[in-house]
Amino acid sequence: MRYIKDTTISSCNITIKYALSVDFKLVSSRYPVRLTDYYAALIKQPDDAIWKQCMPDLRELEDTSQCPDPLDESALSPVPGLIHRYPDRVVLLVSNRCPVYCRFCMRKRLVGSGDAPIRAAELHAALQYIALHSEIHDVILSGGDPLMLDDASLQTILAGLRAIPHITIIRIGTRVPVTLPSRITPELCALLSRFHPLYINTHFNHPVEITTDATAACSMLADAGIPLGNQTVLLKGVNDSVETMRRLTTGLLAIRVRPYYLHQMDLVQGTAHFRTSVRTGLEIIKGLRGHVSGLAVPHYVIDLPGGKGKVAILPDDVEINGSTLLLRTYTGERATYQDITDLPE
Ligand SMILES: *Cc1c(COP(=O)(O)O)cnc(C)c1O
Ligand code: SF4
Repeated sequence: MRYIKDTTISSCNITIKYALSVDFKLVSSRYPVRLTDYYAALIKQPDDAIWKQCMPDLRELEDTSQCPDPLDESALSPVPGLIHRYPDRVVLLVSNRCPVYCRFCMRKRLVGSGDAPIRAAELHAALQYIALHSEIHDVILSGGDPLMLDDASLQTILAGLRAIPHITIIRIGTRVPVTLPSRITPELCALLSRFHPLYINTHFNHPVEITTDATAACSMLADAGIPLGNQTVLLKGVNDSVETMRRLTTGLLAIRVRPYYLHQMDLVQGTAHFRTSVRTGLEIIKGLRGHVSGLAVPHYVIDLPGGKGKVAILPDDVEINGSTLLLRTYTGERATYQDITDLPE
């Protein structure tokens, strides 16, 4: 499989100046840096929400307490590149490259390292495994960013999956609409639409990322009949306020992207400076539910260490007293709700 032609390294002035610094070199020699002109141009000043997401920070090296692979993805990998944690669905890692390397990446241990896309032999082994496991109905292409592969490679992978009768849906997780929207072309959309039902989950973290170009990219995908979801990572100093998250999730609905998950930061080494408390996440969900369209409220999830899976958590607003539920509405008002007793069948 092959990547698209290289798109990296920005000519944006502030980023060039920083790129010459000692800090930059120190951090980037451990955790690779990659940037697009497009994304770097969204930086308005050092240390703003875009800068924090893509520019290396010395604190990445200082955080050595955590594990590089807390979700135990390697242990759940029956063949290289495949993660089989839930019975009916798998993640297939097809690329190690992204347009921009997010400093908070949960696969920080992998992205940019080696940098080769999945090889034909690995793909073959993964497809064989999926074909032999008829309980798998849902395949999620991830990486790295799958859309860093060229159209011919994507065609090969998608055709291989569609040749397996028990595969119902294919999902692609990609940050390309956010960091390299020009990758979304009419040709790519035509290709993807031949493999329906195909879903895309993209990854917007801040309202500033919802630009004219990103909007156009999402429109093309939606017009190709692809349902679009969004996974946001809750990031300290980037999007950890109700106000920012409201603008983000309602802004996404306006471009036909449905907020799907808000992720609590995984306990990945090198990312501690982005971590917020779970209480902060719950306050944000409270600030969304009822105040904005229900479609704009994502599930807040913690991916449990050790590969135990994602758990959705809700603000603690229910107390159970016998068969009476004491609930709190979005305005803070207390309400009671009478539960029923389940009758035997
Ligand atoms: C997140 C994840 C999935 C998909 O989970 P959904 O809740 O269905 O979106 C599947 N496999 C692994 C290993 C995952 O981390
Ligand atoms: S786009 Fe996704 S996989 Fe790539 S660096 Fe960012 S978070 Fe990691």
